[in-house]
Amino acid sequence: MTAKTDVVVLGAGPAGVGAAIAARRYGLSVIVMDEATEAGGQVYRAPAPGLPRDTAETRPGETLRATLAASGALCRLGEIVWSITPLADGAGFRVDSLGEAGPRMVEATRLILATGAQERVVPFPGWTLPGIIGLAGATILLKSQGMAPGTATLVAGTGPLLAAVAAGILKVGGHVAAVVDIASRADWLATLPALASRPALFGRGLGWHAKIRAAGVPLLFGHVIEKAEANGAKLEITLAPVDRTGRLQDGARRRMTVDSVAVGHGLVPASDAARLLRAASDYDQARGHWQPRTDAGFRASLPGLYVAGDGAGIAGADAAFLQGQIAGLSAAADHGCAVPAEEIAALRRSASRVGTVGTAMARLSVPRRGQIAAIAPETIVCRCEDVTRAEIDRAIGEGARDINQLKSWTRCGMGPCQGRVCGDIVGALVAAGTGRARAEVGVFTARTPLRPLPVEALTGVYEYADIRLPPAAPL
Ligand SMILES: Cc1cc2nc3c(=O)[nH]c(=O)nc-3n(C[C@H](O)[C@H](O)[C@H](O)COP(=O)(O)OP(=O)(O)OC[C@H]3O[C@@H](n4cnc5c(N)ncnc54)[C@H](O)[C@@H]3O)c2cc1C
Repeated sequence: MTAKTDVVVLGAGPAGVGAAIAARRYGLSVIVMDEATEAGGQVYRAPAPGLPRDTAETRPGETLRATLAASGALCRLGEIVWSITPLADGAGFRVDSLGEAGPRMVEATRLILATGAQERVVPFPGWTLPGIIGLAGATILLKSQGMAPGTATLVAGTGPLLAAVAAGILKVGGHVAAVVDIASRADWLATLPALASRPALFGRGLGWHAKIRAAGVPLLFGHVIEKAEANGAKLEITLAPVDRTGRLQDGARRRMTVDSVAVGHGLVPASDAARLLRAASDYDQARGHWQPRTDAGFRASLPGLYVAGDGAGIAGADAAFLQGQIAGLSAAADHGCAVPAEEIAALRRSASRVGTVGTAMARLSVPRRGQIAAIAPETIVCRCEDVTRAEIDRAIGEGARDINQLKSWTRCGMGPCQGRVCGDIVGALVAAGTGRARAEVGVFTARTPLRPLPVEALTGVYEYADIRLPPAAPL
């Protein structure tokens, strides 16, 4: 039997929890779904069993999980949502998932997408070698397992996760070979007004830097990884200086031998579920990413659909929690509950105030023109389908005008990750190659399944001989 509910919340991070508790306060039935086995999302990821849960870092996550548990929302954790279909006549949405209980579906009158962010890595030669992981991915390893990515790690890219990961590695006893930031000191100074508006966050950042300095870790501003080469189990890294546009400079190269690299260039909204539903989206020039179009109540362009948190535009965890509550209240109001407009307005004011740091960090991380230009022709851009920059440029030369045309010509973005890893960079390459704006070259069309999953898990085990085939049509 298909389960029915007033609201499905997809994502149990701060935005999803905020949405669930707000909708529950007005008596709506709510099912929260997440592929993680515990709520918390990326920032409040639960530590693995056996690791301490009562530390300054883990306490906020424990509070968030307790808040969700007390809300009366039904939690379906450890379930991958792989398909979402609008019901006939705008009656809501069917959500298909796969978890330990096997395939399940639920129908909801309203759907709140709180799917968070995914990380962006600007490719360089060798970025797909073993031992090289995303900066955000490294936070997962540190938080959930208390493990460093290797015995000597180079931390590179840009944004706040650089210092967070380097300090995290030092905390678990790892060695950081260097922190390499494409941003200059001047770029960071420009973010000071935003950082100063959130003293607690600023203080945390300063604490990470103090730890890094105390450990004697070299800190290189205005530098990038030019290339990584395998040398047995080690990685030979070449670092190069860049100008403010990210263009490689002629200055001296530095070489470094490490066994792991954590590299990332900021975050972009994980908008695949909204795109699957063909919800309207826009390119945010300042934050350098596509995001689903939402109104002041975080309603998307489809009736009954809401998007909140980093999935609606990168603004950070605190803003996500508040935005989630706004979306939950909007759902309750649209359901006929009497939600005071002032309650939503107050949350909106708080969300835009606390979102300034996340927004400033998103701006800092937007790939620079020269950084995109420096991607070498032989560099793999789409790692699922092994599509290189040269192949992308060739397709553009042959007339590909937008990102989906390029996808069908090169298979770029058609692999298991569905363009989640390469999509933003491919968009930048198509824009650069065609001279068109990012908004004009578009964003990858999303398709089911939203996550790779074994077909056997949906169909069950069967023998071909057992499939009852209809008799062949007469000739
Ligand atoms: C890998 C990663 C690590 C990060 N680490 C940090 C950090 O250490 N500190 C920091 O301040 N910020 C970090 N961020 C940024 C941080 O995620 C956000 O600012 C904040 O968590 C946003 O909250 P949210 O609720 O919008 O999304 P999230 O917290 O990301 O929650 C989204 C949830 O949706 C779930 N989900 C998405 N799609 C599906 C699906 N199809 N099926 C089932 N579940 C799904 C995910 O499992 C996730 O739990 C990180 C981001 C990423 C991508």
